[in-house]
Amino acid sequence: MDRAHSLERLSQENFDICIIGAGASGAGVALDAILRGYKVALIDSGDFCGQTSSKSTKLIHGGVRYLEQAFKNFDFGQLKQVKHGLRERKYLYSNARYITKKLGIITPVFSALEGFYYFMGLKLYGFFALKDHFPSARWLTRKEMLTESPNITSKAHSGVLYYDGQLDDARYVMALVKTAYREGLAAANYCRLTGFDKDSTGKLSAARVEDVLSGETFTIKSKRFINCTGPFSDAVRLMANPAEERRIVPSKGVHVMVPRKYFEGDKALLIPKTSDGRLIFVIPFRWKVMIGTTDTPYKGGSEEPRLEKEEAEYLLETAKPYLNEVPDISEVKAGFGGVRPLLLARRRSEENTKSLLRDHEVETDEESGLISLLGGKWTTYRLMAQDTMDVVDSLFGKKNACRTHDYKLVGNDAETEQPVEYEDLYWQRLLSYYGCQTPEVLALDGGKEEKLHPAQPYLSAEVVFACRYEMAQTIRDFMARRVRWEILDWSSCREAVEKVGEIMAAELRWTDTRKEREINEYQKLLKDLIDNV
Ligand SMILES: Cc1cc2nc3c(=O)[nH]c(=O)nc-3n(C[C@H](O)[C@H](O)[C@H](O)COP(=O)(O)OP(=O)(O)OC[C@H]3O[C@@H](n4cnc5c(N)ncnc54)[C@H](O)[C@@H]3O)c2cc1C
Repeated sequence: MDRAHSLERLSQENFDICIIGAGASGAGVALDAILRGYKVALIDSGDFCGQTSSKSTKLIHGGVRYLEQAFKNFDFGQLKQVKHGLRERKYLYSNARYITKKLGIITPVFSALEGFYYFMGLKLYGFFALKDHFPSARWLTRKEMLTESPNITSKAHSGVLYYDGQLDDARYVMALVKTAYREGLAAANYCRLTGFDKDSTGKLSAARVEDVLSGETFTIKSKRFINCTGPFSDAVRLMANPAEERRIVPSKGVHVMVPRKYFEGDKALLIPKTSDGRLIFVIPFRWKVMIGTTDTPYKGGSEEPRLEKEEAEYLLETAKPYLNEVPDISEVKAGFGGVRPLLLARRRSEENTKSLLRDHEVETDEESGLISLLGGKWTTYRLMAQDTMDVVDSLFGKKNACRTHDYKLVGNDAETEQPVEYEDLYWQRLLSYYGCQTPEVLALDGGKEEKLHPAQPYLSAEVVFACRYEMAQTIRDFMARRVRWEILDWSSCREAVEKVGEIMAAELRWTDTRKEREINEYQKLLKDLIDNV
Protein backbone atom coordinates (compact mmCIF):
# COMPACT_ATOMS: atom_id res chain seq x y z
CA MET A 1 0.00 0.00 0.00
CA ASP A 2 1.48 3.27 -1.17
CA ARG A 3 0.67 6.19 1.15
CA ALA A 4 2.03 8.93 -1.17
CA HIS A 5 -0.11 7.64 -4.03
CA SER A 6 -3.17 7.45 -1.77
CA LEU A 7 -2.63 11.02 -0.54
CA GLU A 8 -2.48 12.23 -4.13
CA ARG A 9 -5.73 10.44 -4.92
CA LEU A 10 -7.44 11.67 -1.74
CA SER A 11 -6.65 15.31 -2.48
CA GLN A 12 -7.37 15.24 -6.22
CA GLU A 13 -10.21 12.85 -6.99
CA ASN A 14 -13.94 13.08 -6.29
CA PHE A 15 -15.29 10.20 -4.23
CA ASP A 16 -18.74 8.68 -3.74
CA ILE A 17 -18.02 7.86 -0.10
CA CYS A 18 -15.44 9.14 2.35
CA ILE A 19 -15.06 7.06 5.54
CA ILE A 20 -13.57 8.63 8.64
CA GLY A 21 -11.96 6.15 11.03
CA ALA A 22 -10.19 2.91 10.11
CA GLY A 23 -10.92 0.54 12.99
CA ALA A 24 -13.07 -2.57 12.53
CA SER A 25 -16.11 -0.43 11.65
CA GLY A 26 -14.44 1.84 9.08
CA ALA A 27 -12.37 -0.91 7.46
CA GLY A 28 -15.48 -3.11 7.30
CA VAL A 29 -17.56 -0.37 5.68
CA ALA A 30 -14.73 0.40 3.22
CA LEU A 31 -14.66 -3.19 1.97
CA ASP A 32 -18.44 -3.47 1.71
CA ALA A 33 -18.68 -0.12 -0.11
CA ILE A 34 -15.98 -0.88 -2.63
CA LEU A 35 -17.50 -4.28 -3.37
CA ARG A 36 -20.80 -2.54 -4.12
CA GLY A 37 -19.01 -0.55 -6.82
CA TYR A 38 -18.52 2.82 -5.11
CA LYS A 39 -15.43 4.99 -5.29
CA VAL A 40 -14.26 5.08 -1.70
CA ALA A 41 -11.81 7.03 0.48
CA LEU A 42 -10.72 5.93 3.98
CA ILE A 43 -8.72 7.99 6.47
CA ASP A 44 -7.65 7.64 10.07
CA SER A 45 -6.06 10.23 12.33
CA GLY A 46 -3.63 7.59 13.59
CA ASP A 47 -2.62 4.16 12.37
CA PHE A 48 -5.11 1.70 10.90
CA CYS A 49 -6.68 -0.04 13.89
CA GLY A 50 -4.73 2.18 16.25
CA GLN A 51 -7.54 2.55 18.79
CA THR A 52 -10.22 0.29 20.30
CA SER A 53 -10.21 -2.32 17.56
CA SER A 54 -6.63 -3.41 18.36
CA LYS A 55 -7.33 -3.53 22.11
CA SER A 56 -10.21 -5.97 22.32
CA THR A 57 -10.41 -9.34 24.11
CA LYS A 58 -10.10 -10.81 20.61
CA LEU A 59 -13.18 -13.01 20.93
CA ILE A 60 -15.58 -13.65 18.09
CA HIS A 61 -18.66 -14.33 20.14
CA GLY A 62 -22.39 -13.95 20.64
CA GLY A 63 -21.78 -13.06 24.30
CA VAL A 64 -22.66 -15.67 26.92
CA ARG A 65 -23.39 -12.95 29.47
CA TYR A 66 -26.03 -11.39 27.22
CA LEU A 67 -27.69 -14.77 26.89
CA GLU A 68 -27.87 -15.11 30.67
CA GLN A 69 -29.26 -11.59 30.99
CA ALA A 70 -31.76 -12.19 28.19
CA PHE A 71 -33.31 -15.08 30.12
CA LYS A 72 -33.00 -13.57 33.57
CA ASN A 73 -34.63 -10.30 32.48
CA PHE A 74 -36.90 -11.64 29.67
CA ASP A 75 -34.99 -9.23 27.42
CA PHE A 76 -35.44 -10.25 23.79
CA GLY A 77 -33.25 -7.38 22.61
CA GLN A 78 -30.29 -9.08 24.28
CA LEU A 79 -31.28 -12.41 22.76
CA LYS A 80 -31.31 -10.83 19.30
CA GLN A 81 -27.78 -9.59 19.87
CA VAL A 82 -26.57 -13.02 20.88
CA LYS A 83 -28.10 -14.46 17.72
CA HIS A 84 -26.55 -11.71 15.55
CA GLY A 85 -23.15 -12.31 17.12
CA LEU A 86 -23.33 -16.06 16.65
CA ARG A 87 -24.50 -15.71 13.07
CA GLU A 88 -21.63 -13.34 12.27
CA ARG A 89 -19.12 -15.59 14.05
CA LYS A 90 -18.98 -18.01 11.14
CA TYR A 91 -18.41 -15.30 8.49
CA LEU A 92 -15.71 -13.55 10.47
CA TYR A 93 -14.06 -16.87 11.23
CA SER A 94 -14.06 -18.22 7.70
CA ASN A 95 -13.17 -15.13 5.65
CA ALA A 96 -9.66 -14.84 7.08
CA ARG A 97 -8.89 -18.34 8.33
CA TYR A 98 -5.22 -17.64 8.98
CA ILE A 99 -5.98 -14.91 11.56
CA THR A 100 -8.85 -16.67 13.33
CA LYS A 101 -9.33 -19.90 15.22
CA LYS A 102 -11.85 -21.84 17.24
CA LEU A 103 -11.19 -21.38 20.92
CA GLY A 104 -12.27 -23.87 23.59
CA ILE A 105 -13.28 -22.02 26.77
CA ILE A 106 -13.63 -23.80 30.13
CA THR A 107 -15.84 -22.52 32.94
CA PRO A 108 -14.76 -24.19 36.20
CA VAL A 109 -17.66 -24.85 38.58
CA PHE A 110 -17.62 -25.59 42.29
CA SER A 111 -20.73 -27.81 42.62
CA ALA A 112 -22.77 -30.18 40.48
CA LEU A 113 -25.70 -27.77 40.54
CA GLU A 114 -23.55 -24.95 39.25
CA GLY A 115 -22.20 -27.29 36.58
CA PHE A 116 -25.73 -28.19 35.47
CA TYR A 117 -26.68 -24.48 35.25
CA TYR A 118 -23.71 -23.54 33.04
CA PHE A 119 -23.93 -26.69 30.95
CA MET A 120 -27.58 -26.04 30.07
CA GLY A 121 -26.86 -22.36 29.39
CA LEU A 122 -23.88 -23.05 27.17
CA LYS A 123 -25.71 -25.83 25.31
CA LEU A 124 -28.42 -23.29 24.57
CA TYR A 125 -25.76 -20.82 23.42
CA GLY A 126 -24.53 -23.42 20.92
CA PHE A 127 -28.11 -24.04 19.84
CA PHE A 128 -28.51 -20.40 18.81
CA ALA A 129 -25.40 -20.68 16.63
CA LEU A 130 -27.26 -23.21 14.46
CA LYS A 131 -24.99 -25.32 12.25
CA ASP A 132 -21.73 -23.39 12.08
CA HIS A 133 -19.32 -26.25 12.82
CA PHE A 134 -18.17 -24.93 16.20
CA PRO A 135 -18.17 -27.90 18.63
CA SER A 136 -21.04 -27.87 21.12
CA ALA A 137 -20.69 -27.55 24.91
CA ARG A 138 -19.49 -30.51 27.05
CA TRP A 139 -19.51 -31.01 30.79
CA LEU A 140 -16.01 -32.21 31.78
CA THR A 141 -15.12 -34.18 34.89
CA ARG A 142 -12.44 -32.60 37.07
CA LYS A 143 -9.85 -35.00 35.62
CA GLU A 144 -10.84 -34.23 32.03
CA MET A 145 -10.77 -30.51 32.79
CA LEU A 146 -7.28 -30.68 34.29
CA THR A 147 -6.01 -32.70 31.34
CA GLU A 148 -7.24 -29.97 28.99
CA SER A 149 -6.07 -27.12 31.19
CA PRO A 150 -3.61 -28.18 33.93
CA ASN A 151 -3.38 -24.79 35.67
CA ILE A 152 -7.03 -24.61 36.69
CA THR A 153 -7.45 -25.08 40.42
CA SER A 154 -8.02 -28.70 41.48
CA LYS A 155 -10.51 -27.35 44.05
CA ALA A 156 -13.05 -27.03 41.22
CA HIS A 157 -15.76 -29.72 41.07
CA SER A 158 -15.74 -29.97 37.26
CA GLY A 159 -15.86 -27.67 34.24
CA VAL A 160 -18.03 -26.83 31.25
CA LEU A 161 -16.25 -26.53 27.91
CA TYR A 162 -17.76 -24.49 25.08
CA TYR A 163 -16.40 -22.90 21.91
CA ASP A 164 -16.21 -19.40 20.47
CA GLY A 165 -13.86 -17.80 17.95
CA GLN A 166 -10.63 -15.89 18.46
CA LEU A 167 -8.96 -13.39 16.11
CA ASP A 168 -5.87 -11.22 15.98
CA ASP A 169 -7.80 -7.96 15.82
CA ALA A 170 -5.14 -5.62 14.37
CA ARG A 171 -4.11 -8.16 11.73
CA TYR A 172 -7.77 -8.58 10.79
CA VAL A 173 -8.25 -4.85 10.17
CA MET A 174 -5.04 -4.86 8.15
CA ALA A 175 -6.44 -7.68 6.01
CA LEU A 176 -9.70 -5.76 5.50
CA VAL A 177 -7.87 -2.58 4.45
CA LYS A 178 -5.48 -4.47 2.17
CA THR A 179 -8.38 -6.27 0.52
CA ALA A 180 -10.33 -3.05 -0.07
CA TYR A 181 -7.13 -1.33 -1.31
CA ARG A 182 -6.63 -4.12 -3.82
CA GLU A 183 -10.16 -3.41 -5.07
CA GLY A 184 -9.46 0.32 -5.56
CA LEU A 185 -9.79 1.97 -2.13
CA ALA A 186 -7.82 5.20 -1.54
CA ALA A 187 -6.64 4.82 2.06
CA ALA A 188 -4.22 6.71 4.26
CA ASN A 189 -3.37 6.55 7.92
CA TYR A 190 -2.30 9.63 9.94
CA CYS A 191 -4.86 11.85 8.20
CA ARG A 192 -7.02 13.63 10.75
CA LEU A 193 -10.44 15.07 9.99
CA THR A 194 -10.43 18.66 11.28
CA GLY A 195 -13.74 19.91 9.86
CA PHE A 196 -16.19 19.81 6.98
CA ASP A 197 -17.06 22.12 4.09
CA LYS A 198 -20.75 22.43 3.29
CA ASP A 199 -22.64 23.32 0.12
CA SER A 200 -25.29 26.04 -0.17
CA THR A 201 -27.97 23.70 1.26
CA GLY A 202 -25.90 22.93 4.37
CA LYS A 203 -24.93 19.41 3.26
CA LEU A 204 -21.36 18.16 3.69
CA SER A 205 -19.34 18.49 0.49
CA ALA A 206 -15.72 18.03 1.58
CA ALA A 207 -13.70 16.84 4.55
CA ARG A 208 -10.91 19.08 5.80
CA VAL A 209 -7.95 16.91 6.61
CA GLU A 210 -4.52 17.34 8.15
CA ASP A 211 -1.69 14.97 7.26
CA VAL A 212 -0.44 14.52 10.81
CA LEU A 213 3.03 13.41 9.65
CA SER A 214 3.80 16.34 7.33
CA GLY A 215 1.49 18.98 8.81
CA GLU A 216 0.03 19.63 5.34
CA THR A 217 -3.70 20.16 4.95
CA PHE A 218 -6.03 19.27 2.09
CA THR A 219 -9.68 18.49 1.39
CA ILE A 220 -11.40 15.30 0.29
CA LYS A 221 -14.40 15.84 -1.97
CA SER A 222 -17.11 13.25 -1.66
CA LYS A 223 -20.86 12.81 -2.13
CA ARG A 224 -21.30 11.10 1.25
CA PHE A 225 -19.34 10.98 4.51
CA ILE A 226 -19.49 8.10 6.94
CA ASN A 227 -18.38 8.57 10.52
CA CYS A 228 -16.77 5.36 11.85
CA THR A 229 -14.77 6.85 14.66
CA GLY A 230 -15.98 4.54 17.43
CA PRO A 231 -15.51 6.16 20.84
CA PHE A 232 -14.74 9.48 19.09
CA SER A 233 -17.99 9.51 17.11
CA ASP A 234 -19.59 12.38 19.00
CA ALA A 235 -16.74 14.75 18.13
CA VAL A 236 -17.26 14.11 14.41
CA ARG A 237 -21.08 14.26 14.70
CA LEU A 238 -20.80 17.63 16.42
CA MET A 239 -18.34 18.87 13.77
CA ALA A 240 -21.02 18.17 11.15
CA ASN A 241 -23.93 19.45 13.22
CA PRO A 242 -23.20 21.24 16.54
CA ALA A 243 -26.89 20.90 17.53
CA GLU A 244 -26.64 17.08 17.80
CA GLU A 245 -26.95 15.38 21.22
CA ARG A 246 -24.15 13.12 22.47
CA ARG A 247 -24.72 9.39 21.96
CA ILE A 248 -21.53 7.64 23.09
CA VAL A 249 -20.67 6.65 26.65
CA PRO A 250 -16.96 5.74 26.72
CA SER A 251 -16.10 2.77 28.91
CA LYS A 252 -12.54 1.64 29.59
CA GLY A 253 -11.43 -1.99 29.51
CA VAL A 254 -7.92 -3.31 30.17
CA HIS A 255 -6.01 -6.57 29.81
CA VAL A 256 -2.79 -7.83 31.38
CA MET A 257 -0.34 -10.18 29.70
CA VAL A 258 1.28 -12.83 31.87
CA PRO A 259 3.77 -15.64 31.15
CA ARG A 260 2.38 -18.81 29.57
CA LYS A 261 3.61 -21.03 32.42
CA TYR A 262 0.71 -19.80 34.57
CA PHE A 263 -1.85 -21.06 32.08
CA GLU A 264 -0.71 -23.77 29.69
CA GLY A 265 -2.65 -25.63 27.01
CA ASP A 266 -4.71 -24.21 24.19
CA LYS A 267 -7.99 -23.69 26.06
CA ALA A 268 -9.17 -20.44 27.65
CA LEU A 269 -10.84 -19.95 31.02
CA LEU A 270 -14.08 -18.11 31.73
CA ILE A 271 -14.54 -16.62 35.18
CA PRO A 272 -18.32 -16.35 35.26
CA LYS A 273 -18.74 -14.03 38.24
CA THR A 274 -16.63 -11.16 39.51
CA SER A 275 -17.09 -8.84 42.47
CA ASP A 276 -18.59 -6.25 40.09
CA GLY A 277 -20.86 -8.69 38.25
CA ARG A 278 -18.79 -9.21 35.11
CA LEU A 279 -17.16 -11.99 33.16
CA ILE A 280 -13.39 -12.24 32.94
CA PHE A 281 -11.41 -14.36 30.52
CA VAL A 282 -7.96 -15.90 30.78
CA ILE A 283 -6.93 -16.51 27.17
CA PRO A 284 -3.81 -17.81 25.47
CA PHE A 285 -2.85 -15.25 22.83
CA ARG A 286 0.24 -15.94 20.75
CA TRP A 287 3.07 -16.70 23.23
CA LYS A 288 1.45 -15.09 26.27
CA VAL A 289 -1.76 -15.31 28.27
CA MET A 290 -4.08 -12.36 28.53
CA ILE A 291 -6.44 -11.70 31.42
CA GLY A 292 -9.31 -9.27 31.01
CA THR A 293 -11.29 -7.24 30.90
CA THR A 294 -12.58 -4.48 33.14
CA ASP A 295 -15.47 -2.07 32.53
CA THR A 296 -15.21 1.40 34.04
CA PRO A 297 -16.45 4.79 32.89
CA TYR A 298 -13.74 6.59 30.92
CA LYS A 299 -13.17 10.30 31.37
CA GLY A 300 -9.76 10.52 29.67
CA GLY A 301 -11.02 12.07 26.40
CA SER A 302 -8.56 11.46 23.58
CA GLU A 303 -5.74 10.36 25.92
CA GLU A 304 -4.54 6.78 25.48
CA PRO A 305 -6.26 4.53 28.06
CA ARG A 306 -3.27 2.84 29.69
CA LEU A 307 -3.17 -0.16 31.99
CA GLU A 308 -2.92 1.08 35.58
CA LYS A 309 -1.37 -0.83 38.48
CA GLU A 310 -4.67 -1.12 40.41
CA GLU A 311 -6.39 -2.54 37.32
CA ALA A 312 -3.66 -5.17 36.89
CA GLU A 313 -3.95 -6.07 40.59
CA TYR A 314 -7.73 -6.39 40.32
CA LEU A 315 -7.46 -8.77 37.35
CA LEU A 316 -4.82 -10.96 39.02
CA GLU A 317 -6.82 -11.06 42.25
CA THR A 318 -9.98 -12.05 40.37
CA ALA A 319 -8.18 -14.90 38.59
CA LYS A 320 -6.65 -16.23 41.84
CA PRO A 321 -9.48 -18.56 43.01
CA TYR A 322 -9.60 -20.21 39.58
CA LEU A 323 -5.90 -20.96 39.04
CA ASN A 324 -3.27 -22.97 40.91
CA GLU A 325 -1.02 -19.96 40.96
CA VAL A 326 -1.19 -16.40 39.66
CA PRO A 327 1.84 -14.28 38.89
CA ASP A 328 2.99 -11.47 41.09
CA ILE A 329 2.33 -8.01 39.64
CA SER A 330 6.07 -7.74 38.89
CA GLU A 331 5.61 -10.52 36.33
CA VAL A 332 3.11 -8.55 34.28
CA LYS A 333 5.18 -7.96 31.17
CA ALA A 334 2.67 -6.04 29.08
CA GLY A 335 -0.95 -5.01 28.88
CA PHE A 336 -3.25 -2.64 27.09
CA GLY A 337 -6.39 -0.59 27.53
CA GLY A 338 -9.19 0.33 25.15
CA VAL A 339 -12.36 2.40 25.16
CA ARG A 340 -15.68 0.80 24.25
CA PRO A 341 -17.95 2.97 22.12
CA LEU A 342 -21.12 2.14 24.07
CA LEU A 343 -24.20 3.58 22.50
CA LEU A 344 -26.66 5.61 24.47
CA ALA A 345 -30.21 5.27 23.19
CA ARG A 346 -31.73 8.64 22.41
CA ARG A 347 -33.34 10.25 25.46
CA ARG A 348 -31.85 7.61 27.76
CA SER A 349 -30.44 9.28 30.83
CA GLU A 350 -28.80 6.49 32.86
CA GLU A 351 -25.05 6.25 32.51
CA ASN A 352 -24.30 2.87 34.04
CA THR A 353 -22.20 1.39 31.23
CA LYS A 354 -22.79 -2.26 32.11
CA SER A 355 -26.53 -1.88 31.49
CA LEU A 356 -26.18 -0.27 28.07
CA LEU A 357 -26.69 -2.50 25.07
CA ARG A 358 -23.71 -3.30 22.91
CA ASP A 359 -25.84 -2.78 19.86
CA HIS A 360 -25.18 -0.69 16.81
CA GLU A 361 -27.14 1.97 15.00
CA VAL A 362 -26.76 3.70 11.63
CA GLU A 363 -27.69 7.32 12.17
CA THR A 364 -28.27 9.81 9.35
CA ASP A 365 -28.15 13.48 10.26
CA GLU A 366 -30.82 15.04 8.02
CA GLU A 367 -29.27 18.48 8.28
CA SER A 368 -25.66 17.79 7.27
CA GLY A 369 -26.12 14.41 5.58
CA LEU A 370 -23.47 12.79 7.81
CA ILE A 371 -23.97 9.07 8.32
CA SER A 372 -22.64 7.70 11.61
CA LEU A 373 -22.13 4.04 12.43
CA LEU A 374 -22.46 3.99 16.20
CA GLY A 375 -21.74 1.38 18.87
CA GLY A 376 -21.50 -2.31 18.00
CA LYS A 377 -18.78 -4.82 18.67
CA TRP A 378 -15.93 -6.48 16.78
CA THR A 379 -17.88 -9.68 16.11
CA THR A 380 -20.63 -7.84 14.26
CA TYR A 381 -18.40 -5.46 12.24
CA ARG A 382 -19.50 -7.09 8.94
CA LEU A 383 -23.20 -6.83 9.74
CA MET A 384 -22.68 -3.24 10.93
CA ALA A 385 -20.99 -2.42 7.61
CA GLN A 386 -23.77 -4.11 5.66
CA ASP A 387 -26.47 -2.15 7.54
CA THR A 388 -24.55 1.08 6.92
CA MET A 389 -24.14 0.45 3.22
CA ASP A 390 -27.82 -0.51 2.87
CA VAL A 391 -28.65 2.96 4.19
CA VAL A 392 -26.08 4.59 1.88
CA ASP A 393 -27.41 2.59 -1.09
CA SER A 394 -30.92 3.86 -0.43
CA LEU A 395 -29.62 7.45 -0.20
CA PHE A 396 -28.01 6.98 -3.63
CA GLY A 397 -31.25 5.41 -4.88
CA LYS A 398 -29.51 2.06 -5.48
CA LYS A 399 -30.01 -1.51 -4.34
CA ASN A 400 -26.61 -3.19 -4.58
CA ALA A 401 -26.13 -6.64 -3.13
CA CYS A 402 -23.84 -7.01 -0.12
CA ARG A 403 -20.93 -9.29 -1.06
CA THR A 404 -19.01 -9.59 2.20
CA HIS A 405 -20.64 -12.70 3.69
CA ASP A 406 -18.29 -14.99 1.89
CA TYR A 407 -15.55 -12.71 0.56
CA LYS A 408 -12.10 -14.04 1.40
CA LEU A 409 -9.63 -11.44 2.59
CA VAL A 410 -6.07 -10.91 1.34
CA GLY A 411 -3.89 -13.66 2.77
CA ASN A 412 -6.74 -16.14 2.60
CA ASP A 413 -6.82 -16.29 -1.20
CA ALA A 414 -5.14 -19.65 -1.57
CA GLU A 415 -4.00 -22.58 0.51
CA THR A 416 -0.34 -22.16 1.42
CA GLU A 417 1.70 -25.30 1.48
CA GLN A 418 4.12 -25.63 4.37
CA PRO A 419 7.64 -25.97 2.96
CA VAL A 420 9.52 -28.82 4.57
CA GLU A 421 12.66 -26.83 5.38
CA TYR A 422 10.97 -24.68 8.03
CA GLU A 423 10.29 -25.81 11.55
CA ASP A 424 6.60 -26.03 12.27
CA LEU A 425 6.36 -23.25 14.83
CA TYR A 426 8.42 -20.82 12.79
CA TRP A 427 6.25 -21.36 9.74
CA GLN A 428 3.00 -21.43 11.70
CA ARG A 429 3.70 -18.04 13.29
CA LEU A 430 4.36 -16.40 9.93
CA LEU A 431 1.28 -18.00 8.40
CA SER A 432 -0.87 -16.73 11.26
CA TYR A 433 0.22 -13.17 10.46
CA TYR A 434 0.48 -13.12 6.67
CA GLY A 435 -1.43 -16.17 5.41
CA CYS A 436 -0.56 -16.91 1.82
CA GLN A 437 1.53 -13.72 1.63
CA THR A 438 4.13 -15.42 3.84
CA PRO A 439 6.41 -16.38 0.91
CA GLU A 440 6.45 -12.68 -0.08
CA VAL A 441 7.78 -11.78 3.38
CA LEU A 442 10.42 -14.48 3.23
CA ALA A 443 11.50 -13.43 -0.25
CA LEU A 444 12.60 -10.03 1.05
CA ASP A 445 16.27 -9.43 1.91
CA GLY A 446 17.21 -11.21 5.13
CA GLY A 447 13.75 -12.77 5.06
CA LYS A 448 14.69 -16.17 6.28
CA GLU A 449 17.35 -15.64 8.92
CA GLU A 450 17.73 -12.09 10.14
CA LYS A 451 15.93 -11.75 13.45
CA LEU A 452 15.22 -8.47 15.22
CA HIS A 453 15.94 -9.88 18.69
CA PRO A 454 17.80 -13.04 19.72
CA ALA A 455 14.96 -14.25 21.96
CA GLN A 456 12.03 -13.28 19.73
CA PRO A 457 10.82 -14.75 16.44
CA TYR A 458 10.28 -11.48 14.54
CA LEU A 459 12.29 -10.95 11.35
CA SER A 460 13.88 -7.84 9.85
CA ALA A 461 12.02 -8.68 6.66
CA GLU A 462 8.72 -8.15 8.48
CA VAL A 463 9.64 -4.51 9.09
CA VAL A 464 10.37 -4.08 5.39
CA PHE A 465 7.11 -5.82 4.50
CA ALA A 466 5.15 -3.63 6.93
CA CYS A 467 6.61 -0.46 5.38
CA ARG A 468 6.19 -1.50 1.75
CA TYR A 469 2.91 -3.38 1.82
CA GLU A 470 1.09 -2.42 5.02
CA MET A 471 1.74 1.34 5.26
CA ALA A 472 3.57 1.25 8.62
CA GLN A 473 4.68 4.84 9.30
CA THR A 474 6.03 4.76 12.85
CA ILE A 475 7.97 2.25 14.95
CA ARG A 476 4.85 1.74 17.07
CA ASP A 477 2.78 0.85 13.98
CA PHE A 478 5.10 -2.07 13.46
CA MET A 479 5.56 -3.11 17.09
CA ALA A 480 1.98 -2.74 18.33
CA ARG A 481 -0.15 -3.57 15.32
CA ARG A 482 1.76 -5.24 12.48
CA VAL A 483 3.39 -7.89 14.72
CA ARG A 484 1.70 -7.36 18.15
CA TRP A 485 5.05 -7.38 19.97
CA GLU A 486 4.17 -4.37 22.12
CA ILE A 487 1.09 -6.00 23.62
CA LEU A 488 3.05 -9.16 24.42
CA ASP A 489 6.29 -7.98 26.00
CA TRP A 490 7.39 -4.40 26.64
CA SER A 491 10.97 -5.20 27.69
CA SER A 492 12.15 -7.12 24.63
CA CYS A 493 10.27 -4.64 22.49
CA ARG A 494 12.43 -1.86 23.97
CA GLU A 495 15.58 -3.78 23.14
CA ALA A 496 14.65 -3.89 19.45
CA VAL A 497 13.47 -0.31 18.96
CA GLU A 498 16.77 0.91 17.57
CA LYS A 499 17.06 -1.88 15.01
CA VAL A 500 13.46 -1.45 13.83
CA GLY A 501 14.07 2.32 13.63
CA GLU A 502 17.14 1.78 11.42
CA ILE A 503 15.23 -0.43 8.97
CA MET A 504 12.23 1.89 8.85
CA ALA A 505 14.49 4.91 8.33
CA ALA A 506 16.04 3.25 5.28
CA GLU A 507 12.67 2.10 3.89
CA LEU A 508 10.79 5.36 4.47
CA ARG A 509 13.79 7.65 3.79
CA TRP A 510 13.70 9.34 7.18
CA THR A 511 16.25 12.02 7.95
CA ASP A 512 18.60 11.31 10.87
CA THR A 513 16.63 13.81 12.98
CA ARG A 514 13.36 12.03 12.26
CA LYS A 515 14.92 8.66 13.00
CA GLU A 516 16.29 9.84 16.36
CA ARG A 517 12.93 11.40 17.25
CA GLU A 518 10.99 8.25 16.37
CA ILE A 519 13.35 6.04 18.38
CA ASN A 520 13.40 8.34 21.42
CA GLU A 521 9.64 8.91 21.47
CA TYR A 522 8.85 5.22 21.31
CA GLN A 523 11.50 4.34 23.91
CA LYS A 524 9.94 6.91 26.24
CA LEU A 525 6.44 5.58 25.64
CA LEU A 526 7.50 2.03 26.48
CA LYS A 527 9.26 3.22 29.61
CA ASP A 528 6.08 5.06 30.69
CA LEU A 529 3.96 1.94 30.07
CA ILE A 530 6.35 -0.16 32.17
CA ASP A 531 6.56 2.45 34.97
CA ASN A 532 2.76 2.70 35.10
CA VAL A 533 2.44 -0.91 36.28
C1 LIG B 1 -11.44 -3.84 26.35
C2 LIG B 1 -12.34 -4.17 25.21
C3 LIG B 1 -12.56 -5.50 24.87
C4 LIG B 1 -13.39 -5.81 23.81
N1 LIG B 1 -13.52 -7.12 23.44
C5 LIG B 1 -14.31 -7.45 22.42
C6 LIG B 1 -14.39 -8.82 22.01
O1 LIG B 1 -13.70 -9.70 22.55
N2 LIG B 1 -15.22 -9.12 20.99
C7 LIG B 1 -15.98 -8.17 20.37
O2 LIG B 1 -16.76 -8.54 19.48
N3 LIG B 1 -15.88 -6.86 20.69
C8 LIG B 1 -15.05 -6.48 21.69
N4 LIG B 1 -14.91 -5.16 22.04
C9 LIG B 1 -15.63 -4.15 21.27
C10 LIG B 1 -14.88 -3.78 19.99
O3 LIG B 1 -13.48 -3.82 20.17
C11 LIG B 1 -15.29 -2.40 19.51
O4 LIG B 1 -16.69 -2.34 19.45
C12 LIG B 1 -14.75 -2.08 18.12
O5 LIG B 1 -13.37 -2.37 18.04
C13 LIG B 1 -14.98 -0.63 17.78
O6 LIG B 1 -14.44 -0.39 16.52
P1 LIG B 1 -14.55 1.01 15.82
O7 LIG B 1 -13.95 0.88 14.48
O8 LIG B 1 -15.95 1.49 15.90
O9 LIG B 1 -13.68 2.00 16.76
P2 LIG B 1 -12.09 2.20 16.78
O10 LIG B 1 -11.37 0.93 16.63
O11 LIG B 1 -11.76 3.00 17.99
O12 LIG B 1 -11.81 3.04 15.49
C14 LIG B 1 -12.13 4.41 15.39
C15 LIG B 1 -11.03 5.08 14.60
O13 LIG B 1 -11.42 6.43 14.32
C16 LIG B 1 -10.23 7.20 14.28
N5 LIG B 1 -10.55 8.62 14.45
C17 LIG B 1 -11.05 9.24 15.54
N6 LIG B 1 -11.19 10.56 15.32
C18 LIG B 1 -10.77 10.78 14.05
C19 LIG B 1 -10.64 11.95 13.24
N7 LIG B 1 -10.95 13.17 13.69
N8 LIG B 1 -10.15 11.81 11.99
C20 LIG B 1 -9.81 10.59 11.51
N9 LIG B 1 -9.90 9.46 12.23
C21 LIG B 1 -10.37 9.55 13.49
C22 LIG B 1 -9.41 6.63 15.44
O14 LIG B 1 -8.03 6.94 15.28
C23 LIG B 1 -9.72 5.14 15.35
O15 LIG B 1 -8.72 4.42 14.66
C24 LIG B 1 -14.05 -4.80 23.08
C25 LIG B 1 -13.83 -3.47 23.41
C26 LIG B 1 -12.96 -3.15 24.45
C27 LIG B 1 -12.68 -1.73 24.78
